[in-house]
Amino acid sequence: MELKEPLTNVKGIGEKSEKLFNKLGIFTVRDLLNDFPRDYEEYPEVMDLDEVLDYAKESEVNLAATGLKVALVGRAKTPVTARKTRRVTVITATYFSSEKAVECVWFNNTYIMSSVKVDEVVVLYGILKTDGYRYKIEQPNIYTVDKYNSFRYSYQPVYHLTKGLKNQNMRNYLRNAIDKIRSDGFKDDYLPAEIISKYDFVNFMDAVEAMHFPSDFKQLKAGRDRLVFQEFFYFILNNALQQSKEIGEINSWKFEKDTFAKKVLDNLPFELTKGQKNAIEEIKNDLKGEYVSQRLIQGDVGSGKTVVAFLSMVLAAENGYQSAIMAPTEVLARQHEEGFKKMVEDFGLDIQVVCLTGSMTAKQKREAYEVIEHTPGIIIVGTHALIQEKVVYNDLALVITDEQHRFGVKQREYLGQKGKKPHMVVMSATPIPRTLALILYGNMQISVIKDMPAKRLPIKTAIIKENLRKNAYNKIALEIEAGHQAYIICPLVESSESSDSENVVDYVEKINKYYGGKYTISPLHGKMKPKEKNDIMNAFAAHEIDILVSTTVVEVGINVPNATIIMIEDANRFGLAQLHQLRGRVGRGDAQSYCVLMDKSKGKEIIPRLKVLGESTDGFYIAEQDLKLRGPGDFFGVRQSGEFNFKIADIIGDSDMLKKASTEVNKIISADPTLINHTQLKLHLNSFVEDNNMIL
Ligand code: ADP
Ligand code: MG
Repeated sequence: MELKEPLTNVKGIGEKSEKLFNKLGIFTVRDLLNDFPRDYEEYPEVMDLDEVLDYAKESEVNLAATGLKVALVGRAKTPVTARKTRRVTVITATYFSSEKAVECVWFNNTYIMSSVKVDEVVVLYGILKTDGYRYKIEQPNIYTVDKYNSFRYSYQPVYHLTKGLKNQNMRNYLRNAIDKIRSDGFKDDYLPAEIISKYDFVNFMDAVEAMHFPSDFKQLKAGRDRLVFQEFFYFILNNALQQSKEIGEINSWKFEKDTFAKKVLDNLPFELTKGQKNAIEEIKNDLKGEYVSQRLIQGDVGSGKTVVAFLSMVLAAENGYQSAIMAPTEVLARQHEEGFKKMVEDFGLDIQVVCLTGSMTAKQKREAYEVIEHTPGIIIVGTHALIQEKVVYNDLALVITDEQHRFGVKQREYLGQKGKKPHMVVMSATPIPRTLALILYGNMQISVIKDMPAKRLPIKTAIIKENLRKNAYNKIALEIEAGHQAYIICPLVESSESSDSENVVDYVEKINKYYGGKYTISPLHGKMKPKEKNDIMNAFAAHEIDILVSTTVVEVGINVPNATIIMIEDANRFGLAQLHQLRGRVGRGDAQSYCVLMDKSKGKEIIPRLKVLGESTDGFYIAEQDLKLRGPGDFFGVRQSGEFNFKIADIIGDSDMLKKASTEVNKIISADPTLINHTQLKLHLNSFVEDNNMIL
């Protein structure tokens, strides 16, 4: 079987399950293999009931509400019974553990009956619950103690799922796919043999299998290491090749006038920070420079990158050129559009601002295309729609991407469609050390905005456990009473079988009830239509909403300075970088702001990772600590910031691997800049780029 074959070629996947996979963005065998687990569960230690109860008490696990996954040792004293109703067969067996009865129930699962043997000591693996009197496990697996201990130290992958697709299905399909690929004799390895042997990497299929079916941690790590390296290697190699083609493009744009920009600078309602001033100065020099420029502006959340973008765009406009800013979401694009329109008006500038996003109607889009094609000197704001083929620009001299990976080379070529390439500015809030930025951003110039606007008060952060929930809600109420607004972040959109994390839909109802309908509360999540999301964001910005209950869609760039408190549910489920970004949604005005992180990890102690956020609001510091605190066990499952779309690699956590990959690429490229002597590698690069939807 080849990786590019359709999913239905995998044994067990029919058209019905294919549709489910498509929903998850999985279309080919390769996509399936690349759908790495979002987390790994360890099997719990075998305990008797008393030990479990002690553990639950210590860790404040609520056995009545959530239950606890257990490997309970027990013994049945009486035979199993089966009761047939019209619809189901209910099978029950009573086990004894620490002399107490534990009721086990299965539905329709008649083959379990042969596993229940009177007097045999077994391990019951499932979720233990209690109603206060009796203990119960629904549908436990039954293992002999030896059998259980034989896989106790392996990891159980947990996949992203959708309704109708179970974790076990995923495992079966993956097993079938991997076995078939192997039995057909898969040979390709994607990495040069010298590199594999130098770093002692496992081969590609072994790496993939280790990710899905790890027999122990060591194997899992070896598999992951190899895939991480590969991902970095091709990313850097691709950049290096592309850049060598691009360097030295002569700058024929003329930037001579700057009275508009002066007018803005003289009338700004605030003093620019040193970092902002430097960034603007450097962009100005780039625009007048000998070559077409590419610059990265690195500045923490809230450091004021937007005004830097605006000033550069004003400069372009005054000189008769178009400029465009591309935002990662519709909501952000609209926010920029409105902000820019307001600034243009406030400063009395004669510049037209045009917006183009995917959710506009065909008619609106046509109108926008028309304006963009025929009007020089305008400011264009939009989403990815800006790089779609119907857009024809008119002397586009400057392109800015906001909070987003940079443009790929093809896109840059497209933007410079009349042969004159625009200057590029990338604005990023990802705090990565300079050494790593140099690798990831290749030959770009880098400006760093280190300082925060002067009047900012540092955000006060509280990390709490469930017992202080009321205090958090009181604080939110106080902020609202004081005329401010609040965000509450939940990991999920709606309730899910596979997770007990908070979800936006139920939360809105819950908290509405809590506040007795006193405040205006609205949901916001990624499953909404773009227009609906925009309307809600606008309503929030206009203070028509007091509390926005949202998924992480508000993570990037949203600017509502009147929001002064953010509460993040299940904070222990998020990565530090992401929490830092989320927290940056508040503290954007002059008022004191607050962040409440709800730690739902088991146990009374706050997990160390979260404490870091209590210590500092400095993105660089947080990133550093993040790296230090990551044990080998938790580089899985923690989502990172989405600036680079790496599938498994993590820029910070895997920085060693990143440096190694960079070293190897440099070695190859310096000896063979166009890969003319590396034909096999070039083929692999092309297929890797294509298969991973890497931008070209
Ligand atoms: P980010 O860098 O996260 O994109 P923004 O550009 O959205 O930050 O700026 C955050 C807020 O800070 C905005 O409300 C903006 O008007 C304000 N701001 C920007 N620069 C300054 C400054 N020098 N002094 C005071 N406030 C500023
Ligand atoms: Mg921003």
